[in-house]
Amino acid sequence: MLENIRIVLVNTSHPGNIGAAARAMKNMGLSKLVLVDPVDHPTYEAYSRAAGADDVLGAAVVVKTLAEAVAGCSWVMGTSARERTVQWPMMQPRECAEETMKQAAQAEAAIVFGRERTGLTNEELEQCHALVNIPTNPDYSSLNVAAAVQVLSYELRLAALASLAIAEPVSGEVAAKHQDDLPATADQVDGMYQHLYQMLEDVKFFGTSNPEIVMRRLKGLFNRAQVTIREVSILRGIFSAAQGRKSARK
Ligand code: SAH
Repeated sequence: MLENIRIVLVNTSHPGNIGAAARAMKNMGLSKLVLVDPVDHPTYEAYSRAAGADDVLGAAVVVKTLAEAVAGCSWVMGTSARERTVQWPMMQPRECAEETMKQAAQAEAAIVFGRERTGLTNEELEQCHALVNIPTNPDYSSLNVAAAVQVLSYELRLAALASLAIAEPVSGEVAAKHQDDLPATADQVDGMYQHLYQMLEDVKFFGTSNPEIVMRRLKGLFNRAQVTIREVSILRGIFSAAQGRKSARK
């Protein structure tokens, strides 16, 4: 299941951190690294910090945006050095790892790490189902990004080992879920958000309220619910009906 989990580093400034993150991942049995718009990559420094994990580093996928990095994922966790007060559910590392392993049993999942200086933007956090905070000294709470990757990768390994210890269900005992009842992927949900926004504009819902804030709250709601493929399709049908169209399909 660890192979279904990608580690995403957003806009990392220091190549050494990219290499150290690759090493931390390989130590814990993770191999999928995705780099969103890295400042400097590939570099000698990253390879030297990766040590024997040059295979993980060499296979790292480089993309322009977080949306591309999490495309195909049904579960996306963000990391935060701060306890935020907005609508994102916060988890402890252990809970985060257990939940992510559970999700990774049936689909692709991602854990997203932010910029060294400024972390993740609100727009990026909106693409996450929940946030994880590593409890640290409140007077000095921010970990080096590769150290944060190490802590969470270790928790994922513990959760993977624990799930191996649980007996496999007898084949056929667990009914396979219908494809449409699986959680929708990030790109499917993103398409639904764009449709929702367009529909709300068409029905002149925004009025004097700030569309960005309304959308942020609605995204928070849908992220908490972790909508399924079937639910996305029903919602889009409703949006189309509100727009006076027969079908959302192009
Ligand atoms: N001033 C920034 C700090 C960014 S630290 C902020 O407040 O967000 C760089 C990255 O390391 C973070 O985006 C996060 O991915 C990770 N990180 C650092 N400390 C962390 C902690 N205590 N818990 C979870 N992630 C942490």
